[in-house]
Amino acid sequence: MTTVTCLGFPRIGAKRELKRALEAHWRGEVSAEELAATAARLRRRHWALLKEAGADTVPCNDFSLYDPMLDTAFGFDAIPAAARPLADADPLAGYFALARGVQRDGIDRPALEMTKWFDTNYHYLVPELQAGQAFGLRGDKPLAEFAEARAQGLDARPVLIGPVSFLLLSKTVDGSDRLALLDRLLPAYAELLGRLKAAGAGWVQIDEPCLVLDLDAAAQAAYRHAYAVLAGADRPRLLLATYFGGLGDNLALATGLPVEGLHLDLVRAPEQLDGVLATLPPERVLSLGLVDGRNIWRADLDAALALARRARDRIGAERVWLAPSCSLLHVPVDVASENGLNPSLRSWLAFARQKIEELRVIADALDGSEAADAALAAARATLTARRLSPLVHRAEVAARVAGIDAALSRRRSDYATRRVEQARRLGLPPFPTTTIGSFPQTGEVREARARNKAGTLPDRDYEAFLEAQTEQCVRIQEAIGLDVLVHGEFERNDMVEYFGEQLDGFAFTRNGWVQSYGSRCVKPPIIYGDVRRPQPMTVRWSAYAQSLTTRPMKGMLTGPVTVLQWSFVRDDQPRAQTCRQIALALREEVLDLEAAGIGVIQIDEPALREGLPLRRAEWDAYLAWAVEAFRISAAGVADATQIHTHMCYSEFNDIIDAVAAMDADVISIETSRSRMELLDAFARFRYPNEIGPGVYDIHSPRVPSEAQMLDLLHKALAVLRPEQLWVNPDCGLKTRGWTETRTALEAMVAAARALRAGL
Ligand code: GLN
Ligand code: ZN
Repeated sequence: MTTVTCLGFPRIGAKRELKRALEAHWRGEVSAEELAATAARLRRRHWALLKEAGADTVPCNDFSLYDPMLDTAFGFDAIPAAARPLADADPLAGYFALARGVQRDGIDRPALEMTKWFDTNYHYLVPELQAGQAFGLRGDKPLAEFAEARAQGLDARPVLIGPVSFLLLSKTVDGSDRLALLDRLLPAYAELLGRLKAAGAGWVQIDEPCLVLDLDAAAQAAYRHAYAVLAGADRPRLLLATYFGGLGDNLALATGLPVEGLHLDLVRAPEQLDGVLATLPPERVLSLGLVDGRNIWRADLDAALALARRARDRIGAERVWLAPSCSLLHVPVDVASENGLNPSLRSWLAFARQKIEELRVIADALDGSEAADAALAAARATLTARRLSPLVHRAEVAARVAGIDAALSRRRSDYATRRVEQARRLGLPPFPTTTIGSFPQTGEVREARARNKAGTLPDRDYEAFLEAQTEQCVRIQEAIGLDVLVHGEFERNDMVEYFGEQLDGFAFTRNGWVQSYGSRCVKPPIIYGDVRRPQPMTVRWSAYAQSLTTRPMKGMLTGPVTVLQWSFVRDDQPRAQTCRQIALALREEVLDLEAAGIGVIQIDEPALREGLPLRRAEWDAYLAWAVEAFRISAAGVADATQIHTHMCYSEFNDIIDAVAAMDADVISIETSRSRMELLDAFARFRYPNEIGPGVYDIHSPRVPSEAQMLDLLHKALAVLRPEQLWVNPDCGLKTRGWTETRTALEAMVAAARALRAGL
């Protein structure tokens, strides 16, 4: 009998129960015991669900109250000194202090840094280590959750983040070598494994996703050393889990490690199966990641079955396990509750539960069950229906994409020529001031939107409300003395959802929540079909705002790469193709804005960098189509129309040529926290166009002074030419309050004026 399993399950709960309990606990409304009870209830429910859906073994210790990297650091006692007394006195409070920062009882410690988990939209907390760091076991989370699963009568496999990935994904606060800590860390792993064995665990899953990255010799050596040491421990069998890509040049390294099982991502890298089968030592279990843990489409079960048969024929059924490609953390729980979707579309979707059901069918078919044939046939029919569906295909879109030529992504003239035209049209002062788009989304704004959605605020009243908000925002910007105004984005819920809702080819779920970090979730749109813009999306708001003022009003759009990156994307065509379709739709919007008299248009691409593939060798291909898509969306306008773009949370050093190739007339970036260091990449590259390096951090309610901003602007001028420099905040102001926003922007405008006075 072929075993069905999975590497991890979404922990937040189908109705975001964990989010609610966590946030109530942080507000002091739910006790630690009640929170623990909710968490235990969710674990029980999720295990039962997995079992019902057809899993033979379930993961445990994949649950987390906040983040598994933090759990790992905490569980091995890698706790920064400032948080240690609290962690000793009250472990849960200490844990949340590391997750969220703490300012109480004389303790003042910011949260651990947060960063993206590989190329997903999940953010993990980066453990802080230092040279000579001690490790030991603290608490008994892995054991307790194993015992819980056992008490439910389940065959459970504890999940641990592997020692090498743990160190590679951590940082040292003293700049010392992370991997130098390996020999201090391994005894703690060995001890934990020993305890799990004593508790009855037959297998432990050790996640080593770093094995799919480009590894230098030191990291490869760390892998060999770590697993050689653990091989000698008295421990359960180990399933080494790799995911988010193929092993590539680490294949021999991975198959050579002395463990008892290996998990492969065969969705992203099906081609690696043969190489692994050829080199896998005898006896070793192979866990095949056959259905996509990163996306929400039903799988091609015939193709998956073919891979499974290939493995089985080579190494025998008892050594083959079936699983999703990676943890199911990245997909919602159950499609059954999505009763608002088009029924055809719904039938094409597989969330976490459905993915296990699919694996069950593949396993049964592999084992020769005839009942599986009907399920396979049904899956085949669904796939065919999707392939042929008029919901998916629009001939006109295909024709337009086929018609894309080099001219479509080229502005009419080069930047130098455009600059003259734009200066003539816009008549801006030196060091022009602007903002990134959104203004405070107050409770009043959110409430009006919610009431309109619920049907208690009629459209007409809602529109009038939004117009009043917009007008007020324009007046305030005029009073502050900003040069290029924005309408404030009051009509937008979210920078992707707002556009997705107005484009053909997008759908929205009711409960399709995916954890972003901690208690925060996102509900990504589903791009299921050819993208088309039935009608203008933003023109009405930009034109209205422009009608209120003689100053230039900046149109505000989310760029094609960011829309793609923050959605569930169709898997029946390359991402590049979907991105081009979005680019063409945005291009129409850009041209309509221009025709409506908007002379400055910003196309935000904050997610351009995060779309980078995990392997360097694939960067150029990605950047080529991503930049092309941006250019397609922007390039239709006249020379005198100024195109802006905006990127936050980005490093630019290694992508600066691609950023320059976007050829936006103006780019605004987040730089205040790095004290303008991020500008160095632009300076070194001799970036030719205009730049607005953010002069204040909008993530904090702190109001920066004119002097502080002036200081940052002088720093910027040390590396930029004066005619390149714009003055703006780091990002949009939607999370801020009005009072602090006004004060900060007044100071910012004063700083720009002071700079002008010095010319
Ligand atoms: N225009 C958007 C805003 O101001 C940009 C947001 C972003 O870059 N994340 O909110
Ligand atoms: Zn931003």
